[in-house]
Amino acid sequence: MDQIFTKEQVLDTLKQYFGYDQFRLQQEAIIQHALNKKDSLVIMPTGGGKSICYQLPSLLLDGFALVISPLIALMKDQVESLKANGIPAASFNSTLRGTEEQEIFHDLNNGNIKLLYVSPERAVSERFLNFIQRQPVSLLAIDEAHCVSAWGNDFRPEYIQLNKLINLFPNIPHMALTATADKATQKDIADQLDLKSPELFLSSFERTNLNSRVVPGQNRIQRILRYLEDRPGQPGIVYCLSRKSTEQVAEKLQNAGYKAAYYHAQMSGEQRHRIQENFQKDELQVICATIAFGMGIDKSNIRWVIHYNLPKNLESYYQEIGRAGRDGLPSDTLLFYSFADYKILREFIVDSEAKDDFKQVQLAKLNRMMEYCQATSCRTNLVLSYFGEHREESCGRCDICTHPPKGFDGTVIVQKALSACKRLKEQVNMNLLIDVLRGSHRSEIIEQGYDKIKTYGAGSNISRNEWVFFITQMINQGLFEVDYTDGSKLKATLLAQEVLFNGKTVTLSQWEEFKKASQEERKPQKSKTQLFEEGLFDALRKLRKQLAEEQGVPPYVIFSDNT
Ligand code: ADP
Ligand code: MG
Ligand code: ZN
Repeated sequence: MDQIFTKEQVLDTLKQYFGYDQFRLQQEAIIQHALNKKDSLVIMPTGGGKSICYQLPSLLLDGFALVISPLIALMKDQVESLKANGIPAASFNSTLRGTEEQEIFHDLNNGNIKLLYVSPERAVSERFLNFIQRQPVSLLAIDEAHCVSAWGNDFRPEYIQLNKLINLFPNIPHMALTATADKATQKDIADQLDLKSPELFLSSFERTNLNSRVVPGQNRIQRILRYLEDRPGQPGIVYCLSRKSTEQVAEKLQNAGYKAAYYHAQMSGEQRHRIQENFQKDELQVICATIAFGMGIDKSNIRWVIHYNLPKNLESYYQEIGRAGRDGLPSDTLLFYSFADYKILREFIVDSEAKDDFKQVQLAKLNRMMEYCQATSCRTNLVLSYFGEHREESCGRCDICTHPPKGFDGTVIVQKALSACKRLKEQVNMNLLIDVLRGSHRSEIIEQGYDKIKTYGAGSNISRNEWVFFITQMINQGLFEVDYTDGSKLKATLLAQEVLFNGKTVTLSQWEEFKKASQEERKPQKSKTQLFEEGLFDALRKLRKQLAEEQGVPPYVIFSDNT
């Protein structure tokens, strides 16, 4: 006969052991579901409170809960904090000594343990399976369950074998938990783990205290410096794609007087630990890090997160910005995106050893990331729908909601870009095309004679950022194609012909923010030759004036500016 637990009993347990007065999100329903011995798939954002979903039932059920968790550090943390709350818990992992292991066996035999944490490698070993099958396991929880799926981010092959463990205990509740699972991953988790018609508990992913902003990756360092000026003393993270850039960005921030450090996987465990601690204690304000930073960090007052480079997909992005504002206070996130980053990430995927269908998924995810950057409707909704949450009303906080892009007739702009591209024989990438349109004096342009084409400088009244925004929209609208196999060169499509020759019009979005930014932006830099020539003209002008004064000769007769 199954025990029935009342609402009061469950709430009392929450108060008694965890000290909280109420449940968050769907915790209560998830716990009741487990107490009713049913399977569930729990998707809740990081920091949402997944652990209690399996910890609390373990206290009410007979026997002990078995928890699979991939990170030793996280396991240790959890076991420590459970013990501190008076809950007997232990973890089995590769760092245990023989005697410690014996102690755990002993405690288990005496019924002195309520939660046993095990790494997935350990959990699927013959030895462990033999041992555990005779034990009174009350509940099986698979934390970070996205590791089961190759569609996920950090796929772990041994996770696939966890169904062995699950099938050893067909009659207890199984709970798979994760913070990051899109639709495909959700299905895969349930399939791979042989869950029995699991109930999906999808808590809202919306972090209402986070504001998101996305801008093209121009002048990133200056922008970050301005950003920091506006946020004196506020702790934050700058995520970079490469180790090298974490070091470079950290150095620039240090030079500007900020307490900044870098953090990446190539550093010793000790170094990393020290930096993490100094950040925790607010002795460091900024960490410039690769994605290695974050797994398991629990700093609640991170006020901002900047992505120096494009993240590889929306899961990573959401997980990383999710580290801001754990304390619930308003926090800002800023993402710099660029086609150069897109290209690098794309190459990572294409050149990897992975199977083709895996690559396809990763590429599709990367494309979604880029689409997010170029969104012209609520960004929050875009992410939420990526995780399977669909809704009508917009968030009111993201940059698109606060500064909605305005549609306008962009036909002339589009024609300029297309025609410049064609005149350049479709041999330029976006950057170079913009330089030509803006009349840049970069040596490459002069050497190639690009300054001689008819549309050179035809778009100098439009800022670089705006051009990026417009050309990106043109790519999205199918007017340009990017040839990634050949230096990301832009090719005008058949649709482009319609705009150039058949009177087709194009609507573009404009962003007030860009307008503002472009007013701050300087005109293209002058080349040395040009400066020299201007100097020469100045000298000549002076001479002319002098001559005019001395000899009464009208200046235009002798020297004109066209000389
Ligand atoms: P997740 O695993 O989903 O990232 P955790 O289980 O680590 O989140 O919980 C994050 C924090 O939220 C922890 O400090 C936890 O004690 C706290 N927490 C969980 N449930 C509640 C609750 N009902 N009320 C208040 N705090 C809670
Ligand atoms: Mg967790
Ligand atoms: Zn929005």
